[in-house]
Amino acid sequence: MVTMAKAFLLDLSLEELAAELRAWGEPAYRARQVWEWVWRHLCLDFGAMTNLSLPLREALAERFRLALPPVLAREQDEEGTEKVLLGLEDGTSVEAVLIPEEDRRTVCISTQVGCPVGCAFCATGQMGFVRNLTAGEIAAQVLHFARILREKGERVSHVVVMGMGEPLLNHEATLKALRNLNDPRGFALGARRITLSTVGVVPGILRLAQEGRQFNLAISLHAPDEKLRRKLVPMSARWPLSEVLRAADAYALATGRRVTYEYVLLSGVNDGLVHARALAKLLRGRLAHVNLIPFNPAPGLPFERPSAGQIELFRRELLAQGIDVTVRRSRGIRIQAACGQLRSRHLHGVPRA
Ligand code: SF4
Repeated sequence: MVTMAKAFLLDLSLEELAAELRAWGEPAYRARQVWEWVWRHLCLDFGAMTNLSLPLREALAERFRLALPPVLAREQDEEGTEKVLLGLEDGTSVEAVLIPEEDRRTVCISTQVGCPVGCAFCATGQMGFVRNLTAGEIAAQVLHFARILREKGERVSHVVVMGMGEPLLNHEATLKALRNLNDPRGFALGARRITLSTVGVVPGILRLAQEGRQFNLAISLHAPDEKLRRKLVPMSARWPLSEVLRAADAYALATGRRVTYEYVLLSGVNDGLVHARALAKLLRGRLAHVNLIPFNPAPGLPFERPSAGQIELFRRELLAQGIDVTVRRSRGIRIQAACGQLRSRHLHGVPRA
């Protein structure tokens, strides 16, 4: 006898769940009840959904799985940033990170196993691409930390889509996961608390602009000119800088949200005053903000972190040119060079740096 594999409940939207339950002859409000158990109360046990009949709970357990991916490896730094490697059904794995700050509990999530973009300064980029995550696998990373935080009476306050993978090359699943997290009937995380970071997939940015939600958009620029950008972000060759900026402008116009431009500072590569001036020229007059990310050195990656003085010179030059700029703390969101390292170590037994 062939047994059908159970579907992952987190892969469904509320409307899809409602259609499924309707086909079982259940009244319309049932799906909403299940949705609230899962997305609001973070309940992962059908048996505990006490306002549902026993036969329905059994039918749900037969048709769906709800367990979150197990933790294969875990690291925590002295400031409380916690990175986990989550094991997926097919034996692959992805990283997710919780970054606790004073008034924020930010979760950084992955959208692909590996990444096809191949950024020269990123451990994940050196791994190559394995596969897209499903919507449920993406959202599960948030629910994992949400359940842990709940034990301390805390909540996930922000989500950044800045982990492994290029989210706009896995557009459908990523957007479905974000819509589910944003849904006020369940997890209810405000769109303005969600940031999606892309290397500049132009068609994806334009589609996102039509989504009608105020997600924050971050563009990983990393270089102020085409030639250098292609070296650092090989896949960027597909979308010329001018088109990326035009798409970002369209996003800012459609949403009224300021676009963030991320710029990883690599010593002697893109951190000169000449680069700062070229970057300022590119962004002048745009609804933009630059986030400088001093590189975190990592084994196997041929780059150095600029000195504190050089970082400050770069920042001041942008300010002097009228560009709004911040420097990300090294522990902060998108620990780019560190992204993918936990997985590498787990797979290859590579010792810690
Ligand atoms: S930095 Fe992001 S886009 Fe670039 S290779 Fe790494 S995961 Fe992919």
